[in-house]
Amino acid sequence: MLILTYPRSGHHLLINLLLRHYGSEVVTEGKKTRTQCRQVLKAGPFKYCEIYSHCGVVGCNEAVSLQKHHDFDFKLPYQKGVIVQYRKKEECLMSYYEYSQRKITRKEFLKKMTPHYEKWINKWVTKDNLCIDYHDLVTSTEDVLVKVLNYLDLPLRDMDFLKKIPIKNRRKA
Ligand SMILES: [Zn+2]
Repeated sequence: MLILTYPRSGHHLLINLLLRHYGSEVVTEGKKTRTQCRQVLKAGPFKYCEIYSHCGVVGCNEAVSLQKHHDFDFKLPYQKGVIVQYRKKEECLMSYYEYSQRKITRKEFLKKMTPHYEKWINKWVTKDNLCIDYHDLVTSTEDVLVKVLNYLDLPLRDMDFLKKIPIKNRRKA
């Protein structure tokens, strides 16, 4: 299944939590980072393809639970029944601004990116998709994980690991 994510909306957090939920048995090659290893990440029955660093093909050539796509250029045709991650506009765009260290001011960046952000939200945040608000992911983490796992038809395991991750640390989880 595809997971559409606007940059800086908690995608890495969600994936890390899903991997940890299955015990963090993450397969990587040597010392390469996850995005450099060009392979599917696996933990328990969960398999994840970060399209750009793996196959580059929509609908991955391996049977994965989730495949990440940004659809930043709006070229991906709309589809129903996917998972969508988004975040409140200002928070999202300001995080993106910090992340990419732009040479324009915050205000200029916000103004420039707002139409893009709104077009993306209008396209993907619909009632036909499982839409995850960043705020809910951070504050109601267990509920969100249960929803995602059920949506993917994957088995639920013990959620006790969440107790070790305080809300303020969930961005780094
Ligand atoms: Zn792939």
